[in-house]
Amino acid sequence: MTEPLQASAAWLERYDRSLLGVFGRPQLVLEHGNGAWVWDVDGRRFLDLVGGIAVNALGHNHPALVAAVSKQAGQLVHVSNFFTSVPQVELAERLLSLAAAPEGSAVFFCNSGAEAVEAGIKLARRTGRTGILAAEGAFHGRTTGALALTHKPAYREPFEPLIPGVTHVPWGDADALRAAVTEETSAVVLEPVQGEAGVRRGDPAYLQVAREVTAAAGALLLLDEVQTGVGRTGSWFAFQQAGVVPDAVTLAKGLGGGVPIGALVTFGPQVSRLLGPGQHGSTFGGNPLACAAGLAVLDTIDAEGLLEHARQAGEHLERRVLGLGHPEVTGVRGAGLLRAITLAGDHAPAVVALARDAGFLVNAVAPDAVRLAPPLVVTTEQLDLFVDALPGLLDAATTPEDPS
Ligand SMILES: *Cc1c(COP(=O)(O)O)cnc(C)c1O
Repeated sequence: MTEPLQASAAWLERYDRSLLGVFGRPQLVLEHGNGAWVWDVDGRRFLDLVGGIAVNALGHNHPALVAAVSKQAGQLVHVSNFFTSVPQVELAERLLSLAAAPEGSAVFFCNSGAEAVEAGIKLARRTGRTGILAAEGAFHGRTTGALALTHKPAYREPFEPLIPGVTHVPWGDADALRAAVTEETSAVVLEPVQGEAGVRRGDPAYLQVAREVTAAAGALLLLDEVQTGVGRTGSWFAFQQAGVVPDAVTLAKGLGGGVPIGALVTFGPQVSRLLGPGQHGSTFGGNPLACAAGLAVLDTIDAEGLLEHARQAGEHLERRVLGLGHPEVTGVRGAGLLRAITLAGDHAPAVVALARDAGFLVNAVAPDAVRLAPPLVVTTEQLDLFVDALPGLLDAATTPEDPS
């Protein structure tokens, strides 16, 4: 018999000695999963309500994803962009169709969210203008181009100077946006729901104003749906709920169900022609393995009715959490299965640690907000397990330490 947590402790010690310390010490050493459940190397089981930060759309070990990746691995994993493959063309066509993108629209494949944003920045530069507007609170990734659009000073400032021309405007303030867009603006870049800023949903009216003012100024509207895309908010893309048609959309997190893939979707021939031969590229981007994973994710969301399920499960969660009537809960934000439970005090880190000890994985997206971005296949019964435990977690997190 091994001592409890003995394996975890040993692996974490080896982690500390071999991994760059940019993430701090990981909380767990995970070994395998099934649906919304994951197990660590000491055999402890957790309900995964983080979903790899909105990535594991189909949960863990979904048979459709396992089969698609296994089959493709036995055919072709990679071919370079001198060549194409059936999964690449099929996934591009599927994305354009799900986005209801007009004739002449196009897809560029890459490997991550930040890379998709980088492609968007280069697209914007090809307008001949250099100004970019992003929102306060925005998160667009960590590569140096995307980082310039990310708002959080602690992420940005150690690496300045970054690309020039980026201005951050107050999130959700239509008048501020109107005033900031000029003939120098190449693009306005917004998340339909700000994920990392605490799951803050943009008012449809705000996104509509963004569409109007960019169109009037000849600037692009680039929506960063790396976190909100691929069913997360209960529609294929969050922009569809706002009733706007953007000029470009970035995708990544949920698209491969955990297999790395990113995409920039450009809308219409005029925008799509901004980047021509030789002007962008990626060695791994669009390889058949990642594209087969993407197709399996899209097929399964369709076959299992996961858009409708994400809507209903998200509403169920909101209703149940608010129904607790707990004094520490001030609200539930977000859409579909991208949610934050907001708290009266800065107790989210304590709640997250207590939840982990109780077998639930959630994330403190802000000091006063607990994020849930579970697999889209999570059941309402599984969500209820967490909601039933929540009052006890909140009580324990907010009880002052006994001074004696
Ligand atoms: C996570 C995220 C990114 C960055 O994605 P990476 O794959 O980590 O590079 C960019 N934009 C948004 C909205 C995100 O949530």
